[in-house]
Amino acid sequence: MRLVLLGPPGAGKGTQAQLLVDRLAIPQISTGDILREHVQRGSTLGIQARAYMDRGEYVPDDLVVRMVMDRLAQPDAREGFILDGFPRTVPQAQALESALAQAEQPLSAVLKFAISDDMAVRRLSNRWTCPECKRTYNMEFKPPAHDRVCDTDNSALERRADDDELTVRRRLALYREQTAPLEAFYRERGLLKEIDAEVREAEVAVRTNAALGVVP
Ligand code: ADP
Repeated sequence: MRLVLLGPPGAGKGTQAQLLVDRLAIPQISTGDILREHVQRGSTLGIQARAYMDRGEYVPDDLVVRMVMDRLAQPDAREGFILDGFPRTVPQAQALESALAQAEQPLSAVLKFAISDDMAVRRLSNRWTCPECKRTYNMEFKPPAHDRVCDTDNSALERRADDDELTVRRRLALYREQTAPLEAFYRERGLLKEIDAEVREAEVAVRTNAALGVVP
C-alpha cells in the first residue's frame, strides 16, 4: 500500500503512521524526522533546513523533493510506504505524482486527519518526544509512566524547538495556506479519505483501519 498522511501539525499523523507500520509492514517516511536527523548531523541539507524549521516555515520544495525521491528509491520502500509530512505543497504533490506515475506505482490512498486549531495547540505545546524511538507523549493527555523518560527505551524525552505556541500558530497558518489545497488535489483524484481525529488515538486507529479496509 502506498499512502500519504495529510493533516495539520498535531493531528496525530506520526502516531497513526507508527501503528500502520506495525499493521502493514511498510516503512514510515517522515520528512520532519529525516530533516531533524540532518540538522542533528550538521549535514549540508541540515544546515540549510534548520533556519526554516526553527521558524516554523517550510523547507524549499527542491530540497525536500530530492530528499524524498532518494528515500523512495531505497529497497524497503518497494512494497509500499507511508508518507508522513510530505507532500506539503502543490509542487511537491505534482513531483510525487509524476515520479510514481513513471514507476507505475500510483498512490493507494490519502488519509486526511482533521482537528481544530485549539486542539492542535494543546497537543503540541505539551508534547515531548523520545529522540531514540520517536514516540510522542503529552503531559496533559498521554504522560509517560516516569517523569520525562520514554516508556519503551528509557531515553530522556525532549521538546521540539518548534513546539512553542507562537511557532505552532505559524505552522497552522502555513498549513491552511500551503497544504490544505492538497485536499482538493487528492479529492479530485478520488484518493482522499477524511478522518475526524479529535478523539483518542485508539479510536483514530479504528477509523483509519476502516477507511483503508484493513482488518486489525
Ligand atoms: P509537524 O508536526 O508540523 O507536521 P514535521 O515533523 O512533519 O512537523 O515537520 C517539521 C518541520 O520540518 C516543518 O515545520 C518544516 O519546516 C519541515 N518540513 C517537514 N516536511 C516538509 C515538507 N514536505 N516540505 C517542507 N518542509 C517540511
